[in-house]
Amino acid sequence: MKINNVVVIGSGTMGSGIAAQLCNANIPVTLLDLTTEISEKARERIHKSRPPLLLDKSKINQINVGNINENFDLVKNADWIVEAVVERIDIKHNIYEKIFKHRKNGSIVSSNTSSIPLDILAEKLSDDDKKDFCITHFFNPVRYMGLLEIVKNKHNDLDKINYLKEFCEEDLGKGAIICNDTPGFLGNRIGVYAMQVAMTEAFRMKLSIEEADAIFGRPMGIPKTGVFGLYDLIGIDLMADVLKSFIKELPENDEFQIVAKEIPLVKKLIETGYTGRKGKGGFYRMNKIENKKVLEAINLETGEYSTAKKIDLKIDKVDLVSLVNRNDRYGEYAWSVISKIIKYASSLVPGITDKFNDIDEAMRLGFNWVKGPFEMLKEIGVDNFFAKIENFQNNKFLENLSKSKDENFYGERQLYTNIETLGKIKPRATKLEKNDSAEIYRFKDFNIVEFTTKANALDYDSMDCLKKATDKPLIIMNESMQFSAGVNLTYTMNFAEKGDFKSIEKFVKYFQDTCKQLKYSNYPVISAPSGLTLGGGFEVLVQSNFVASHTNIVIGLVETMVGLVPAGGGCKEMLARWLDTEEAKKDPNFAPLKVFDIIGYAKTATSPVEAEPLKYLRPEDKKIMNRNSLFEVSKKILDDNNEFKAPSEIKFNLPGKEVKDKMISALEKLYNEKIILDHGMEVGKELANVLSGGNTTIDKSLSEDDMYKLELESFMRLIENNKTQDRIKHTLKTGKPLVN
Ligand code: NAD
Repeated sequence: MKINNVVVIGSGTMGSGIAAQLCNANIPVTLLDLTTEISEKARERIHKSRPPLLLDKSKINQINVGNINENFDLVKNADWIVEAVVERIDIKHNIYEKIFKHRKNGSIVSSNTSSIPLDILAEKLSDDDKKDFCITHFFNPVRYMGLLEIVKNKHNDLDKINYLKEFCEEDLGKGAIICNDTPGFLGNRIGVYAMQVAMTEAFRMKLSIEEADAIFGRPMGIPKTGVFGLYDLIGIDLMADVLKSFIKELPENDEFQIVAKEIPLVKKLIETGYTGRKGKGGFYRMNKIENKKVLEAINLETGEYSTAKKIDLKIDKVDLVSLVNRNDRYGEYAWSVISKIIKYASSLVPGITDKFNDIDEAMRLGFNWVKGPFEMLKEIGVDNFFAKIENFQNNKFLENLSKSKDENFYGERQLYTNIETLGKIKPRATKLEKNDSAEIYRFKDFNIVEFTTKANALDYDSMDCLKKATDKPLIIMNESMQFSAGVNLTYTMNFAEKGDFKSIEKFVKYFQDTCKQLKYSNYPVISAPSGLTLGGGFEVLVQSNFVASHTNIVIGLVETMVGLVPAGGGCKEMLARWLDTEEAKKDPNFAPLKVFDIIGYAKTATSPVEAEPLKYLRPEDKKIMNRNSLFEVSKKILDDNNEFKAPSEIKFNLPGKEVKDKMISALEKLYNEKIILDHGMEVGKELANVLSGGNTTIDKSLSEDDMYKLELESFMRLIENNKTQDRIKHTLKTGKPLVN
């Protein structure tokens, strides 16, 4: 069979997300709801969504819309019908009756339910229809969340389930894990349990919500929203409904029941409209005091709000051993939460899955955890874990492990997919080098560099690994959320605050040398980005010989926002790309002005489709829906280029003063309209200086080194300026740009 046409019924949050992802995969899709007006509104929502659900907004009309009364005939043509209506069994049963009356023979029908068991959904279907019916549980937002749980039972046609899995992996880019029909499947069963443990332990140990979130967050390899922040994000009322459903579905003696009990403070929050970010606030709220917005946090004992405190545990890297061995309340909390999660997850093996590995992957893909419970256990160490744990009765997995004491119990990773992923090959590769910011792996006859800092911000050490790794063909990629958010601004500011500009200059030069090495070494270099690929991260990519890009990227040169200009070759490479156009051949001002516009406004693209017109990506760069495939595609590029020859150096003929004047008059216009202020003008002038070629004329050829030099000079003048430093400090503190 082949899926060439899909109908999605229910155009709410999930239905529209699924339809958008099908549109991203160029699969014809129709959204049906109670009325066409509702589905049309859904289409508008998709169009306006941020972060965008569509890779290419101009394709919005490829999503057809209709209603279930007049347009149900469309179901006849569909190869796959996805039901994503409200979580009510009576409504779902009615829809299935209609679908199975109309659908063509053999088509797949699935529900997006998050909590209703497959057996109950399918109870009114004939045995023949049951073969084609399963649950496809997508996560919100569909484009960005990696996990898709496909729930099957004994009635299913397994070939069809496997085909659906392959389609969802290859075409829709999902990490598709096949699960048994158990309450909450894998992700939510463990994920919601983990949240409840983190919450109830914070109550029990009298931790503030800021403290709990500071621990059950980055230090544990969990997104920084922590537990209370995540509760507010999901909706406290929605979480209460989810818990009710777990309480109903799970046996009375399931450990989940203990942590799912109603908490009086939570009940009160819901009753008073404090349902989280969508309501008046939740555990956190924004308050206005003397006309200033202040973030407040609730006191778990009194229910009163006061200004939220910043808790900085000064932990940049996940280090569970140090965390659980801390001799303070934080260490105690971390151990209590982690050990309970490990105990619970392992107690469910083999009941909910015989591959414990899948639980870890579900947590990684569905909750963005760096490590799942079993990898946490592996990191803590089997010996260490059993020395600390008090009891683990009726837990076959832990009982066996306590006997074998096998530190290598984990085995292979990512068993759910047949794709050869970076995660799978890393344990088989040799780690050649590791510093605070990056690691070099040797696999077969090539190297892989993985950045390892927060948001993969770049510093001297990151460059050091890249440079050393060019002694073989090289793939630059990683398993974390971001390829790289750019140069580490804290690192740069630490020097600036001491007035040590020499060290900054040395770093930028090293950055340039490294990028030059990436571009011109004798071996091919491939960047395989996913997520943020900004500033210095983009400069690494743009000076790699090949690119294999995930379709979920945010890419661009954003240096001007923090009062700088790209100085790692970003200006140079963007100029080169725009100089290589028909327009530039006719008009020498065309390329510099175009790049001035792109870098000056710090334009970013949120997909390869948006990136190409800006020339952040080239048509020949590979664009890949499934992040898991980045490694295989990169490896194939290496295989196809074993006769690789480094490119020859580029020459730049730039107009100098003539185009610089044009740029400055554009800046003056913005200044007079108060769109930019004094320092914006300064930054713009420096950028104009670099992109015009400085003190040059069109008949003079500048080398790449000349361009690097111009970038560096402007960068140094700007970083020494207090107003650039103010911008950087502001961005580091608030995450937002400062207009000065
Ligand atoms: P939603 O409330 O946003 O949307 C439901 C849509 O169904 C609405 O547009 C409604 O008009 C439509 N609808 C209701 N009755 C209908 C009918 N008889 N025929 C056609 N359309 C009908 O809900 P949602 O959040 O998108 O959830 C949909 C399903 O996905 C639910 O089963 C839910 O449990 C599940 N789910 C939700 C999330 C999430 O984060 N929101 C995540 C995973 C799974």
